Amino acid sequence: MPTAIEKIRNIGIVAHIDAGKTTTTERILYYTGASHKMGQVDDGTTQTDFHAEEAKRGITIYSAAVSCRWKDCTINLIDTPGHVDFTAEVERSLRVLDGAVVVFSAVEGVEAQSETVWRQADRYRVPRLCFINKLDRIGANFEETFAEIQRRLQANPVALTIPIGASSDFEGIIDLVEMKALYFDEASRGGEVDVREIPEAHAEDAQLWRSQLLDTVSLIDDDVMTACIDTGTAPPELIHRALRAATLLGDVQPTFCGSSLDYIGVQPLLDAVNRYLPSPLDMPPVKGINPSPRKNQPAEEQRTPSPDEPFSGLVFKIVADKHAELCFVRVYSGVLKSGSRMLNPRTGKKELISQLWHIHASQRQKLEDAGYETDYVAAGDIVGVIGPKDVATGDTLCDPRHPILLESITFPETVISMAIEPESSADRKKLEEALVWLSRQDPTIRTQVSEETGQTIISGMGELHLEINRERLIRDQNLKIRVHKPRVSYRETVRSAVEESGEFHRASQGETRFAGVRVRLEPHKGDAPVSVASSLKPGDLPSEMQRIVREAVNESAQSGGRYGYPLMHVKFTITDVDYREAESDEEALRAAAAHAVQNALSRADVALLEPVMKLEVVTPAEFLGNIQSDLNTRHARIVGSEHRGDLAVLSAEVPLVQMFGYSTHVRSLSQGRASYSMEPLKYDFAPPSVLDDMLG
Ligand code: GDP
Ligand code: MG
Repeated sequence: MPTAIEKIRNIGIVAHIDAGKTTTTERILYYTGASHKMGQVDDGTTQTDFHAEEAKRGITIYSAAVSCRWKDCTINLIDTPGHVDFTAEVERSLRVLDGAVVVFSAVEGVEAQSETVWRQADRYRVPRLCFINKLDRIGANFEETFAEIQRRLQANPVALTIPIGASSDFEGIIDLVEMKALYFDEASRGGEVDVREIPEAHAEDAQLWRSQLLDTVSLIDDDVMTACIDTGTAPPELIHRALRAATLLGDVQPTFCGSSLDYIGVQPLLDAVNRYLPSPLDMPPVKGINPSPRKNQPAEEQRTPSPDEPFSGLVFKIVADKHAELCFVRVYSGVLKSGSRMLNPRTGKKELISQLWHIHASQRQKLEDAGYETDYVAAGDIVGVIGPKDVATGDTLCDPRHPILLESITFPETVISMAIEPESSADRKKLEEALVWLSRQDPTIRTQVSEETGQTIISGMGELHLEINRERLIRDQNLKIRVHKPRVSYRETVRSAVEESGEFHRASQGETRFAGVRVRLEPHKGDAPVSVASSLKPGDLPSEMQRIVREAVNESAQSGGRYGYPLMHVKFTITDVDYREAESDEEALRAAAAHAVQNALSRADVALLEPVMKLEVVTPAEFLGNIQSDLNTRHARIVGSEHRGDLAVLSAEVPLVQMFGYSTHVRSLSQGRASYSMEPLKYDFAPPSVLDDMLG
């Protein structure tokens, strides 16, 4: 039997790199029985880090969905990448998840990436639990980390477990709802939990945290308030009920603690996933548009998470190996049966759903083997699908009789690119195909052929991102390739407005064709890098012709600016069209529009934009001076500096072009003890010298 929808939890585990996501996931799989073997990140044997290069580097790059059962719930768990080059992937996962567990290190506290992910989760209104991990380590500080979550994330954590001891004395945790001490037996890898009375030495502390918990919950729930007033305490069921409601609203974040490495504190976190995080039924209906509405039919549609609605789902990830391509689909409505054909509204094609897989990380199980009776999944679930040929990450799949295009996932601008070429020209075709294969799986990889040099350029989100994809081409696709040094991806913009015309005029064999288009080009920060508008009145031109001119202006603008870089922060407005009914055909209009765009660009005050990164360096205080003066030579703007124990945390904004190879450099500046994280922040004006150098 498929799990009843109210018993499904689609959750992600998110955190800064090295906080312990993979280790925590591993423990969860073990306790839920999904994995019989306990993996260790440090040996490269975990279930979710199953790509060869991930095991090698010990970081999670490709998130994989894993299903497991905890008590009466099915938990679909997504282990998301921690490295900042892959934030786009985290963002994509957040979109299809209903809840998240945010893991913090009790030593490092709230780090840059946890902050970024927290803000993303805010944007998608994802209810959250917090897990303060690594309490066994030297320098671990539960209270400090808890306070940082409040301060730095402006969050509202409410502690449900607190540690007994810290660092080498970290022994167990106190459950503040039941007011019991929990000890996790090491021989059974924490599988057996010993429930005891709270030790005397911790009784007062526990009372203090417990009264904070009751204060918070009383404000949320009148029944708890009444119970507290009448009896001085409240029964667990009432507390759970109130916390669930407040968590779903995003008003509080139930917070837990432990050490995943030492098998302490993970089961209470799992109980909390069941208790407080939403089921798909708690989520609002998903919205989309009908790609081919009939007359008078509204284009907007929505689907509620019911098996009785027409099927709709979102492909949020594609994992390809040598044998097959597996599309991860979040099913929003209806049921998906194997053997059916579903529409991809982007291509207009129907795709065969050959097989449905229930995913257990590296090994894949058929649904029947995983205990399901039938070959179908229903609304609310997440499933791996084999069969579709022409799908890409972000695509909708839907019932062909009830088409809907779900709101698409937006992908960020790439910031770095490199030229790539096959060693022998015989491999050119194979490389092209391989690049299509890559970018269907990872839409933050873009490829393009340079008009000047004929070279293939691949762009992405960071040095590591390009490096990983280069390795995949070599290993998974058996390609022999040469790559050039990565470079920053520049953009072109304009500093002031210009207005220019373009004309098309041709007379041959006594026939004249003519059209004229006038456009204004100006700086503009909109949602899209380039926006196109028209100030023409409805009567000025047949609407079909208006559409053609707009389309042509847009196409022309998409092909790049004066120096061949993509345009950004600009707006074109069509201000006039010289249209002569007998002479202005589609081709003439298109050519005139293209000329107008070219003329405007060549007269405009064009400037280059460069990617600017948000950087955070965490270093022992003694190296702060070194690191700071090095950053000054890199034209960094220091925006903050804080102390945390013996560590200094430096935040800065710095042009990406200054940061190539920084990982090696920062190590040598700090005897290997500083760490940093960096992610794209914005595009800003590049120094004029960049353009001068380019033009020679
Ligand atoms: P991720 O990058 O967030 O997936 O973190 P990992 O799970 O890969 O852990 C990073 C490192 O921290 C590994 O060396 C783990 O063994 C270690 N680690 C994870 N959890 C704990 C913990 O609770 N205590 C200690 N001492 N180390 C931990
Ligand atoms: Mg990991």
